[in-house]
Amino acid sequence: MKILVVAPHADDEVLGLGGTIARYADEGRHVVVAVLTGHGLEEPHPLWPREAWDVLRREAREAHGVLGVRETIFEEIPAVGVADQAVWKVNKTTMDLVRRVEPDVLYVPFLYDIHKDHRELTHSFSVAWRPCTDVGRKIREVFAYETVSETHWNLPYLEPSFCPNQWVDVGPYLDKKLRAMECYQSQIRSFPDARSLEAVEALARWRGCQVGLRAAEAFVTIRRVSPLSMNGRGGPTSLERTRTDDRRDSSLVPRPGPAV
Ligand SMILES: [Zn+2]
Repeated sequence: MKILVVAPHADDEVLGLGGTIARYADEGRHVVVAVLTGHGLEEPHPLWPREAWDVLRREAREAHGVLGVRETIFEEIPAVGVADQAVWKVNKTTMDLVRRVEPDVLYVPFLYDIHKDHRELTHSFSVAWRPCTDVGRKIREVFAYETVSETHWNLPYLEPSFCPNQWVDVGPYLDKKLRAMECYQSQIRSFPDARSLEAVEALARWRGCQVGLRAAEAFVTIRRVSPLSMNGRGGPTSLERTRTDDRRDSSLVPRPGPAV
């Protein structure tokens, strides 16, 4: 089973599902991370020199080593400029990527993230996962992840907010997630910035608290086609209750007395 994680920018994959990736890898699954944006091939980037991406990509490889990612792919759509590209060009990049990887499970950013690169790329992949092609039909599960500093700054009551309906227990993998995030020295900030290690851990703890776990990562299910055998194969659903449940802390056992 192949899992493709779409990261508009290097570090989105760790923020959104670093623990889940580490857990997939630990269970022997083949995880591919595709970073879609970079300097761009044609013109000088208006904001950052080419060297900035050399640093970022070195950090990404290091972080992916921590998590156990099998393959990292870097594309060259200009960062902060996805919406300025011809739609057919972006769709060709994403479709070629899906054809190359042939994933069974796909993770994309939340459609209403404040960053337009995230929105445009999720839209573009929604073209690639249509079930009218062989590779589109092969994708049995699609999930949207959340990204601190992008997902929670959209427009309240004017756009849908991230409301998860899928949680993955990452308690034993939170340390790896944080270590992978530490590799991104060019991206992490000091607390209380949303892109700080403290904030990343706080979100994982809170997502865990929502479902009675020490730490979790949360997702919105976009597609989930149940396997014929219903034997638990598949994406996060199959990761929900396996051996990590055995490691749950005894402090989570309900105590007698009024729960006020
Ligand atoms: Zn991003």
